Amino acid sequence: MRENLIRKGAIEMSQIQDYAKEVQAWVTEMTGFLEKNRLTEQHVLEQLNRLSQLSRQLQKDDATKEEMTKVEKEVTLAFREINDLMNRNTRSRINQSVPIGKHTLPPLPYPYNALEPAISEEIMRLHHDKHHQSYVDGLNKAELMMKRARETNDYSLLKHWEREAAFHGSGHYLHTLFWEGMSPKGGGQPKGALLKQIEKDFSNFASFKKQFSEAAKQVEGVGWALLVWVPRTRRLEVLQSERHMNLTQWDTIPILVLDVWEHAYYLQYKNNRAAYVDQWWNIVNWPQTENRFMEAKKLVWKPY
Ligand code: MN
Repeated sequence: MRENLIRKGAIEMSQIQDYAKEVQAWVTEMTGFLEKNRLTEQHVLEQLNRLSQLSRQLQKDDATKEEMTKVEKEVTLAFREINDLMNRNTRSRINQSVPIGKHTLPPLPYPYNALEPAISEEIMRLHHDKHHQSYVDGLNKAELMMKRARETNDYSLLKHWEREAAFHGSGHYLHTLFWEGMSPKGGGQPKGALLKQIEKDFSNFASFKKQFSEAAKQVEGVGWALLVWVPRTRRLEVLQSERHMNLTQWDTIPILVLDVWEHAYYLQYKNNRAAYVDQWWNIVNWPQTENRFMEAKKLVWKPY
């Protein structure tokens, strides 16, 4: 009995210290990212500084759960501030384009372990830092090579670079949506206009969820499930994508996307993609999805 208690205490202490280290790493990474992108608003940097101090205190042997809760609250606040800062920055840069070959990896909008238990920290690190980065690099390279083709008027390898641009471009854009489409506070159901439209086009939320899950589970090989808004029909639709670009329905806007490539779940779920898909619903970021839907809905084309 006593031994159990001691062991329990030891586990909790190491959990607190692991968490503190995770927070520390995130603060360092975020500070670097903000500085690199010149998003150096004083109050946000101060908040990150405070968080850094708190997480150092939390790494001491006598740290308590209460102190950990306090740090968790500070982390939530810092997230909100950084999100606001990034949104303001996006709005002010809205008319600026990404130069050719200058795509960058967007930072994960939450810590690597924030989506546990649905998606493990190990997967998030690998998936975001390695896989998504390689799509960014591949897209940049394809764009630069096509630019060179234009400059030298040598289009002999164009087909190859176009395919690369489609593959890595779709990978970069879809992963960006994928990270945004999830949240540690996710799950539940959408509200408002998005829910109304889902009910109009799929009868009810349950049948939409069922079709989206089935689409994800039945993707042949690797790919995605996507909820898209079709501006021409003015309806929501569920689509499958094989790999990134096969079966892509152009002229549509992805609203909610689910990565069912093996690298997204295999370390944790092995070949049980269905369990991963079912768990994923607990971390869907519906408010963000609603925002995206409202933005996408502003686009309308003449119906035929
Ligand atoms: Mn992926």
